[in-house]
Amino acid sequence: MEELKRIWKKVSEELAKDITTVSYDSWIKPITPEAIDENKITLKVPFPINKTMIMTKYISLIESCVEAVTLRKFEIEVIVDDEEGNVPGADPITIENTLNSKYTFSSFVVGNNNNLAYVASLAVAERPAKTYNPLFLYGGSGLGKTHLMQAIGNYYRENYPKKKVLYTTSEKFTYELVTAIREKTNQAFRNKYRKVDLLLIDDVQFFANKEQSQEEFFHTFNALFEKDKQIVLTCDRLPSEIPQLEERLVTRFNMGLVADVQPPDYETRMAILKNKIESEYLSVDDEIVEFIADSVKSNVRDLEGAVKRILVYAGIKRTNEISMELATVALRDILASQPKRAITAKVIIDEVEKYFRLSKGSIVSPRRSKDVALPRQVGMYICRELLDDPSFPKIGEEFGGRDHTTAMHNVKKITNDLKSDKDLENTVNEIISNIRKG
Ligand code: ADP
Ligand code: MG
Repeated sequence: MEELKRIWKKVSEELAKDITTVSYDSWIKPITPEAIDENKITLKVPFPINKTMIMTKYISLIESCVEAVTLRKFEIEVIVDDEEGNVPGADPITIENTLNSKYTFSSFVVGNNNNLAYVASLAVAERPAKTYNPLFLYGGSGLGKTHLMQAIGNYYRENYPKKKVLYTTSEKFTYELVTAIREKTNQAFRNKYRKVDLLLIDDVQFFANKEQSQEEFFHTFNALFEKDKQIVLTCDRLPSEIPQLEERLVTRFNMGLVADVQPPDYETRMAILKNKIESEYLSVDDEIVEFIADSVKSNVRDLEGAVKRILVYAGIKRTNEISMELATVALRDILASQPKRAITAKVIIDEVEKYFRLSKGSIVSPRRSKDVALPRQVGMYICRELLDDPSFPKIGEEFGGRDHTTAMHNVKKITNDLKSDKDLENTVNEIISNIRKG
């Protein structure tokens, strides 16, 4: 027992470093260490709500701190002190917490694609209703909108435990409204939404065409806004692009900050994958991580899906060694579903300029200097090879409105040179491969 007390003291000190003082005082301090055996540590807490909070938010942190202190893995059991609260047979206390505790700012990988949305979300979490109100996050599916929105909620809940956070989707809002009207509980519905300090509404595109919901939400919005309460919204498109959204709502959605999230670039994909792999305690060769980052480009959800599938396959094969072969098999379906980039003259021009390290637009500019002449000829040649409609007038047109005879001449020149110039052949092949890789 003395040993356990000593361990717990050290664990608490570790925990204190990782969480805010408020959370520490509310949830960690009330814990008393109860028992320890070979592989289990039992902790006692005064109320069911303490247990709920620990199991939903702090259990993995506690486990890793215990491991750090004892240098071994213990199962952690949390029990509620019977005398003080847990009446047998009583309904368990449930707290309405639809926030996923995994969605935090610290688990969010920031890249060029989501920087603005991240910074704005953090600002809103730190100074609610003082910076951007509302904050409107928009972008394609699986790019981290819900994650950021819930990170705001989790941060807020952690730092202002007495304030009310409400997270819901526009679909759920609509559904509740319909129910409230049917059951004549409109007032309760209103109170629920108008008495919060932070309102998070996910996927507001579902308000499209729903007049009654829009009407109700308009009043909710105003009530909260006037009381300086923070509102955060997400959507798969810009406010002005939501069909049949009342103008007055469009205006309100645009009132604060509208920030986009874009698909992750290669570096961000690598960082997200490495994070994810680490959190699953997997060890995967860089070569394979690069392979995934190269092949899965659409969104972060698919990237996570890729890691999960590899995990499952490794499980089936009972192996920790993840080979390229296993990765390829595991990802077959995901790879097949990735949208292929359409090859257009613009894509070809971009890749040629990238390859020759020229600034954007230089090979379609009127310049005739030597440094752009060869790249331009190569670009036209590749267009002739890869485009669906590779007529010379079309190629000339794409390259800054040049004459079709120029296009023809350039393509002929490269075709000829390729017969004897090995370097040129390598160059052309490499660019074509870059274009195909997308
Ligand atoms: P959206 O709401 O935009 O459709 P989500 O927020 O549900 O997307 O994100 C899909 C998944 O990808 C989630 O599991 C989320 O944690 C993860 N994710 C998205 N963006 C990032 C990021 N930048 N860093 C880490 N995980 C991310
Ligand atoms: Mg979402």
